[in-house]
Amino acid sequence: AKIPSVVNEEVKSYAPGTPERTELLETYKKMYNEVIEVPQYIGSEEIFSGVKKEIRPPHDHQKVVGYYHEGTQSDVQKAIETALEARKSWANMAWEDRAAIFLKAADLIAGPYRAKINAATMIGQSKNAMQAEIDSACELIDFLRFNVKFMTEIYADQPISSPGVWNKVEYRPLEGFTFAITPFNFTAIAGNLPSCMALMGNVVVWKPSDKQVYSAQVTMEVFKKAGLPDGVINMVLGDPAETATTCISHPDFAGLHFTGSTHVFKHLWKQIGNNVDIHKTYPRVVGETGGKDFVMVHKSACPTEVAVGLVRGAFEYQGQKCSAASRAYIPSNLWPEVEKQVKEMLATIKVGSPEDFSNFVTAVIDGNSFKKITGFIDRAKASTEAEIIAGGTYDDSVGYFIAPTVIVTTNPTYESMTDEIFGPVLSIYVYDEDKYEETLQLVDETSAYALTGSIFSQDRAAVEVAYKALENAAGNFYINDKPTGAVVGQQPFGGARASGTNDKAGSAMNLLRWVSVRTVKETL
Ligand code: GLU
Repeated sequence: AKIPSVVNEEVKSYAPGTPERTELLETYKKMYNEVIEVPQYIGSEEIFSGVKKEIRPPHDHQKVVGYYHEGTQSDVQKAIETALEARKSWANMAWEDRAAIFLKAADLIAGPYRAKINAATMIGQSKNAMQAEIDSACELIDFLRFNVKFMTEIYADQPISSPGVWNKVEYRPLEGFTFAITPFNFTAIAGNLPSCMALMGNVVVWKPSDKQVYSAQVTMEVFKKAGLPDGVINMVLGDPAETATTCISHPDFAGLHFTGSTHVFKHLWKQIGNNVDIHKTYPRVVGETGGKDFVMVHKSACPTEVAVGLVRGAFEYQGQKCSAASRAYIPSNLWPEVEKQVKEMLATIKVGSPEDFSNFVTAVIDGNSFKKITGFIDRAKASTEAEIIAGGTYDDSVGYFIAPTVIVTTNPTYESMTDEIFGPVLSIYVYDEDKYEETLQLVDETSAYALTGSIFSQDRAAVEVAYKALENAAGNFYINDKPTGAVVGQQPFGGARASGTNDKAGSAMNLLRWVSVRTVKETL
């Protein structure tokens, strides 16, 4: 069988006067004035437990746009049993049929569900229209389509045979059930983690973040509409830690696909280790965790490219990307010009509700996040080692709004240079332009995380030096570009050190973690 050739989904502009803008805005407004109910999806059942939790837009936290129905641990047990039952037919279904379901899901999102899933992401996660479009539409569509391509390439990869011997490998799904824990910040990641495991023939218990249930429900609706059989992906909405314990302590637990914090992932890894004696098979453990992503600038760089890279890399989606530009190292010769341009750009940036498409920055995800981020800002205000040169203001009276903030510090190990902030705060260290190599070493030594990083330089030799010096400091390394916005099929995404297991989302490398290969040799 041949699958359609795959190209990246085109990003719609939502420019004034375009039909997509009108449709998205109307959908947003309509959904904003409804109150949805999000159930758990277990097998064919939609479970409305009656234990309702409010869904409030982060940019308008007094408004209730819906409720999700919290689940219990007996629901998780039921989800596991339902998944294992569904596995009997799903694991043996022809791959073309599995592929067709997810290709159809991609087409549904590209067409009739595009406005709905984008609006859900704008309302529930406070993404502006453009950030919603690149995430919940384009990236999710790309994951679904490219994963099918990668799957067929994997299946086609066969060993050679020899005279009198016939060999093959069979890419079986894992034996048991898999478990996906997904974050609030990308609707695409939340959709990809369970669906890529299911595509490879696995059955899944999926626990989305309670901050992403609005768009998660749309994703689930799309999967069902595309023909996903009951029980293949089961979405549960109980306590996250208890849910993890129920799944991990089950003998049929076969794999964890996680995106979230380093702290939680380490805890789960230990928990999995402690249960290894009861597991029928060694579980696969794949995690994409935190980041403290660098922008390193050489004295030859173009200041405007640097300023644009910093502003977009640090502040798109309020800096709530694992990949966000979070610390920058600027040579002293360029600093006056970079500072001027960054300040000028930030002065034109608007902060507010995503309903106004001209707002570049909207709210951060919740009150806890607001508190954590503004803590960094307050401490910088009080510190003798730090100076706030832009932003520094915040207001949570209506929504969790924080102005894009730039901290300049004289201490390269000051907390904003080393700790993950996950918000619209960029930390800058200005270095002596002649200390390039020492500074590269400093960047590497202070990279406890190793997710993304950028080098800006017009001098090719300087790029090569950084390329070597920072070889372990970033799983995604960008030359003269911001460190965010990896595109499926173009830049496989993931990092090492405290950033994860580096099993590259959006690539065959990731899908290979979700198969258990049987090698067959036949003597002829
Ligand atoms: N893949 C996204 C990017 O390249 C980041 C994903 C994340 O934040 O986990 O910007």
